[in-house]
Amino acid sequence: MDAVIAAVVTALLVQAAPAAKPEDTEVWSPEPRVVTPAPAAATPAAAPTDAVVLFDGRTLDEWVATNDKSPARWTVGEGAVTVRKGTGNIETKRRFRNYQLHLEWRIPPGIAGEGQARGNSGLFLASTGNGDAGYELQILDSFGNKTYVNGQAGSIYKQHAPLVNAARKPGMWQTYDVVWTAPVFAVDGALKAPAYVTVLWNGVLVQDHVALKGETVYVGQPRYTTHGASPIKLQDHGDPSTPISFRSIWVRETE
Ligand code: MG
Repeated sequence: MDAVIAAVVTALLVQAAPAAKPEDTEVWSPEPRVVTPAPAAATPAAAPTDAVVLFDGRTLDEWVATNDKSPARWTVGEGAVTVRKGTGNIETKRRFRNYQLHLEWRIPPGIAGEGQARGNSGLFLASTGNGDAGYELQILDSFGNKTYVNGQAGSIYKQHAPLVNAARKPGMWQTYDVVWTAPVFAVDGALKAPAYVTVLWNGVLVQDHVALKGETVYVGQPRYTTHGASPIKLQDHGDPSTPISFRSIWVRETE
């Protein structure tokens, strides 16, 4: 009889537990202080001699569609690559562990929408599977566009808000310079060391060697799953705003 009662109580508790919602992991304050970065460079940053150039303004030869590994179908023109909505995320053919990365991105002038539906993309520092699996450094128009602070540009999505908001206006090129230390797993899959990331946004420090709690998730709590060297991925978010562009993407492996 006790077992029956226990089962009923358990069932009631499970029923009473509210389902996890996206809002549960949104943080809205404090808002990062606004910092005006130095003026944007007139030309794309050239890569150092030991860098692997992932996008030089001309071809997507280093990239494939994430979900089926077919050739990447985003639009290349005028020295930039622009998200082609509906074609899905793209990722590098090469796999990386620890690295330094440079990437330039531009929100189109005249962007419409608000919150997360305003120039949403993302840089996945390691792609661990199809879709949005991995660790996302958010890309978004955060120039006067209010959203949850751990989902604005410069955030490690739903884990770490940026230290400050260093956004440039839509239409201007912006830069991310990232130092990524991949998580380390034991042979049995246990986490030995979390991932760490440092991010400069338009030359301004916004993430200072922060530890990640696991892979990025939209709903629920981040957690780790074992993986090795991984591609770097860019997000086709699917929000209705005008898609964003990228140029000068290069990486220096540090391991
Ligand atoms: Mg995103």
